[in-house]
Amino acid sequence: MTTQSPPQPLRLVVDLNLCQSYGQCVYAAPTVFRFHGEESLEYDYAPDAGLRREVERAAAACPVQAITLSGATEPAPTVGGADR
Ligand code: SF4
Repeated sequence: MTTQSPPQPLRLVVDLNLCQSYGQCVYAAPTVFRFHGEESLEYDYAPDAGLRREVERAAAACPVQAITLSGATEPAPTVGGADR
């Protein structure tokens, strides 16, 4: 017996207070991130799980680490006890 659950959508959060509109994420994952106007970043909050690699690349490329990704195969975040 196999139990395969459908791929969960990713959850994506960009801290727009950190974002400096460098645009690295737009180059890394143009189907997920885009600019609206000169400097206003728009993005897909729940991109398809198949886009995980692109989104991970975008998060890694962000110079201010404003992109947080969770969902799909990510472990659940621990509550409390972790130093930030
Ligand atoms: S790469 Fe980071 S700083 Fe640049 S636009 Fe994307 S989220 Fe903002």
